[in-house]
Amino acid sequence: NTPVETLEFQAEARQLLQLMVHSIYSNKDTFLRELISNASDALDKLRLETYRDKDLAADTSDLRIELVADRVERTLTVRDNGIGMSRDEVVGLIGTIAKSGTAEFLRKLKESKDSSASQDLIGQFGVGFYSSFMVADHVTLLTRKAGEAAGTRWESAGEGTYTIETVDDAPQGTSVILKLKPEDTEDHLYDYTAEWKLREIVTRYSDFITWPVKLEVERTVEDRTTREFETVNSGKALWARSKDEVPAEEYTEFYKHISRDWNDPLEMIQVKAEGTFEYQALLFLPAKAPYDLFMRERKRGVQLYVKRVFIMDDCEALMPEYLRFVKGVVDAADLSLNVSREILQQDRQIQLMRRRLVKRVLATVKTMMAESPEKYATFWSEFGPAVKEGLLSDAENRETLLDIASFASTHDAEKPTTLADYVDRLPEGQEHIYYMTGASRSIVESSPHLEAFRAKGLEVLILTDAIDEMWVDAGDEYRGKKFQSVAKGQVDLDSEKSEEAGEFEPLLTWLSSSLEDSVKQVRLSSRLTTSPACLVGEAGDLTPTLEKMYRAMGQ
Ligand code: ADP
Ligand code: MG
Repeated sequence: NTPVETLEFQAEARQLLQLMVHSIYSNKDTFLRELISNASDALDKLRLETYRDKDLAADTSDLRIELVADRVERTLTVRDNGIGMSRDEVVGLIGTIAKSGTAEFLRKLKESKDSSASQDLIGQFGVGFYSSFMVADHVTLLTRKAGEAAGTRWESAGEGTYTIETVDDAPQGTSVILKLKPEDTEDHLYDYTAEWKLREIVTRYSDFITWPVKLEVERTVEDRTTREFETVNSGKALWARSKDEVPAEEYTEFYKHISRDWNDPLEMIQVKAEGTFEYQALLFLPAKAPYDLFMRERKRGVQLYVKRVFIMDDCEALMPEYLRFVKGVVDAADLSLNVSREILQQDRQIQLMRRRLVKRVLATVKTMMAESPEKYATFWSEFGPAVKEGLLSDAENRETLLDIASFASTHDAEKPTTLADYVDRLPEGQEHIYYMTGASRSIVESSPHLEAFRAKGLEVLILTDAIDEMWVDAGDEYRGKKFQSVAKGQVDLDSEKSEEAGEFEPLLTWLSSSLEDSVKQVRLSSRLTTSPACLVGEAGDLTPTLEKMYRAMGQ
């Protein structure tokens, strides 16, 4: 064995650990879900790796997750014989937090004094392995990567440092040994060495895990005490079961497992396709947008399985970018286990499948809109800005996207409107859907461009998301009505004020020559009522915000 090294946690990791040690999250039981989830991932990875690398020296005959409790020692061990970690991986994966946006997350967490808001944030972030420190005051991780000879022992009390050493005698896979906090073990409700307690947690949170979760139990028969392993999860792939035989709660826990979200999902979508290309899908719409929804490296949320075998996370071939927040599993029957991302991108069957999944997601939102408006409102306020990106990239579903979109409007200060409702309210003869873009509702509302519309009681959509500038600019229409910016071109509200033109001729001429270098034209307008003048763009011009955006992008 090599000497023991003491290393420091990266600053952000330390802060997160502090939160765990002081148990910011009220439901401590979930630490086990996190550890089992990691073990399950590790087994998935090992199986996949052995398919890819035939020379990998790893025993895959009895892949499993074991739970061993010791009442006297006050320990709980979660063990898997999965892929394991190399020493560098332990340092990189456990000692640091590589997720982008961690700093911002921690800042937000500090700002939010309200504890349920903090829990929401934690939920979005997914603390994973660190949740061990909610129940343990000392954690040992012993691991050996499949195919490697030496193992690694990592230990920490969740303070600023951890120790790490190379060991010769580690079995392949990972064991996490928790030295449980004494106060919990004494409390009947939080005794994580009790068989009933462990059974209950596994049934509640990890029943669907496809690997066997084996709990070591003690049995006394005729004065002879023996210890043996008993499988405590049912292990059936949820997506392969019919909906009526699965309690709703199980779907929720499954969602939490695959999404690493601690909140319940908003909606579930089940798809089953039979025929030449068979597949099953279980998709979820989250209730909250993740903190990194608009970050560049953001991954997509759908996992690919082939005949119950996990193949890959973040499968971009299955969901378009604008639906990157959709979580779930797709299990295809007729793909090779060796399928690569590149092959998936080109596969015609996969493309058909993706089209169908997208349509199902959009149809679900449409149904939600009609049947549970509150859910829809939540969905749209969380994900609307992402979904609208589809108006630029998904021509095929444009109509549906416009159907399920809603926008702030001058019609109602509180409630967004759908385009269908807008069009239904249109007065006879109005051929345009008027809109104005801007950084915020109040900026738009105080703009002189709106005056005449307001005075005439014409409804104007208030578009404040950055993406709005881009799709609405594509000169589109909805149900035969063209989108028209109130800030661009000639807006012919009624007859132009021609009788006044003569009277203003000298002023116009003078203004035109004085402002020659700054504006293209000076004209009388019917769009103002109280402001004397306003600047308008030409019909094809970029709006000021877009101009800024393009400039920022260096164009
Ligand atoms: P997440 O699971 O969301 O990635 P965790 O904090 O739960 O975050 O785990 C961090 C990383 O540590 C995992 O992504 C994985 O690479 C590694 N890891 C954790 N537990 C295990 C395990 N039992 N076997 C192998 N690797 C593991
Ligand atoms: Mg995890």
